[in-house]
Amino acid sequence: MTSASRQPSPDPGPDASHAFDFLVIGSGLAGMHYALRVAEVGDVAIITKREASDSATDWAQGGIAAVSDPEDSFDAHVEDTMNAGAGLCREDTVRFVVERGPDAIAALRKNGVEFDPPRTPDSPGAGEFDLAREGGHTQRRILHKADATGREIERALLARVRAHPRIALFEDHCAIDLITATKSGRTGTNRALGAYVLEASTGEVHAYTAPITMLATGGAGKIYLYTSNPDVASGDGMAMAYRAGATLANMEFMQFHPTCLFHPQAKSFLITEAVRGEGGILCRRDGEPFMQDYHAMRDLAPRDVVARAIDTELKRTGDDYVVLDITADTTGRDPSFVRGRFPMIFERCLKYGIDITREPIPVVPAAHYCCGGVRTNERGESDLPNLFAAGEVTSTGLHGANRLASNSLLEAIVYADTAAGESIRRSPEVAPVDDVPAWTHGEATPIHEAVVITQNWDEIRRFMWNYVGIVRSDRRLARAQHRIDMLREEINEFYWNFRVTPELIELRNLATVAELVVQSAAFRKESRGLHYNLDHLDRDDERFGRDTLIQRGDTPWISPT
Ligand SMILES: Cc1cc2nc3c(=O)[nH]c(=O)nc-3n(C[C@H](O)[C@H](O)[C@H](O)COP(=O)(O)OP(=O)(O)OC[C@H]3O[C@@H](n4cnc5c(N)ncnc54)[C@H](O)[C@@H]3O)c2cc1C
Repeated sequence: MTSASRQPSPDPGPDASHAFDFLVIGSGLAGMHYALRVAEVGDVAIITKREASDSATDWAQGGIAAVSDPEDSFDAHVEDTMNAGAGLCREDTVRFVVERGPDAIAALRKNGVEFDPPRTPDSPGAGEFDLAREGGHTQRRILHKADATGREIERALLARVRAHPRIALFEDHCAIDLITATKSGRTGTNRALGAYVLEASTGEVHAYTAPITMLATGGAGKIYLYTSNPDVASGDGMAMAYRAGATLANMEFMQFHPTCLFHPQAKSFLITEAVRGEGGILCRRDGEPFMQDYHAMRDLAPRDVVARAIDTELKRTGDDYVVLDITADTTGRDPSFVRGRFPMIFERCLKYGIDITREPIPVVPAAHYCCGGVRTNERGESDLPNLFAAGEVTSTGLHGANRLASNSLLEAIVYADTAAGESIRRSPEVAPVDDVPAWTHGEATPIHEAVVITQNWDEIRRFMWNYVGIVRSDRRLARAQHRIDMLREEINEFYWNFRVTPELIELRNLATVAELVVQSAAFRKESRGLHYNLDHLDRDDERFGRDTLIQRGDTPWISPT
């Protein structure tokens, strides 16, 4: 069959029942906070591809950065963020986000999120919260709920969402593509009209329409072999926005978390940076600390520095892992403190036979956070009109070339809130969406060889890890591009010939996002923040001191502003 048979049919579908005032794709912090706000004025659909709690938000451990200690200041938080961002943060964005930190915390608490109070009356903090410190922060400013802050946020917000009479939550519904005015045959300015969504249980594809769409689909860690991310993080929102014509920025800046548990049975388990904040020390397998050789802040150096240091140590020694030591012998930390402060990590490691109060934890770096994504403006809107975006799917200008720890939950809620305010203001004047073409399966048949999907998926993740990982080179990037070129055709053919499944949708998106990362990385001929290229070791502010932009049908270019 030809690709034409997968085109939406010109007849309006039977899906008028899927028309809402606001369509939200994703049920992490960004999607749910936005939904709860806009539901004040309209009917909201939240589409989420697995169970609603299946999100990076649910997995966040360390906490959320916000100034709350009188000893701390907005200026200090701004400065730490800018320092980590290696010259690419937008100062106005950074200040905008940082200054909204206290309000963001208040909004979370209003929705039932609890943060840990000080451990003892003389604990560092504002008196109200136990404040943790993480890499790159010069102050203790991370509010947390033990080491499962994200779970607490997801729990509280999801309870509100489920109880809300104006929010309909569609679980096991996977957005395939955005519906746009141009693609649905309208003339005039292009704009977002909703999304085609696969209902996994029936295999049916419905057109969900709304005058305003919010993309809150999170990150894309799954493009790498080793990642701290949940399985849902396949970059769907980035790929959908790209196909719809929106501009993406800074896709080359993928943050690798320095410390994921190294164990054959432990899939994607992160050891939070807060362990180092509480005195944990990175050592070689022989017990020798090494971070003093790499940075003045030693174990609390910015993440890119720590991840690269571990990568260098592993390549130098040939070991599979380094260790993170928070035992009493090394750090003087009382075991009961460690158990109380990191209960989830303690339990999970114990499950794998590691008592972290007595023995060091084997760790490796893993893909963790996409600093790049759909480019949004100060109102949280992409350059495709009526398509808002918030959270990890975006590039707002906050993180620059390297995210400061625990700034992402803050960014997610601040921009979800800003976008909600703008959406509410705008909604009376946005034209309603009338008929859109229904999806047709054409002559596509059910997939008979799912192995093609797993094979391609594995291949992408492996060459991304080997060629587009922590340390890159021109040759490695060229090899990665070559692999993508070969796979693209095969994946496309598969996509057009077989009925869509969640796995096929994810594979297609994964390949698109991997290619965007490769192209952006190959374009940036310098080393900066998270992008480290052996053939261009210096930072080149003159040529590359601004964002990398990329849009469908074009090669990457440097932002003029
Ligand atoms: C292990 C771990 C620990 C972390 N710790 C911290 C921390 O301590 N502090 C911090 O600030 N940040 C932390 N982060 C990062 C932070 O958790 C995320 O950046 C943030 O939660 C992203 O929120 P979000 O709402 O943008 O996306 P997510 O929470 O990832 O939600 C995305 C949602 O979109 C849905 N979705 C995706 N594609 C589709 C589709 N095609 N159709 C329908 N639904 C779709 C997903 O199912 C999910 O519901 C951590 C991340 C990880 C993985």
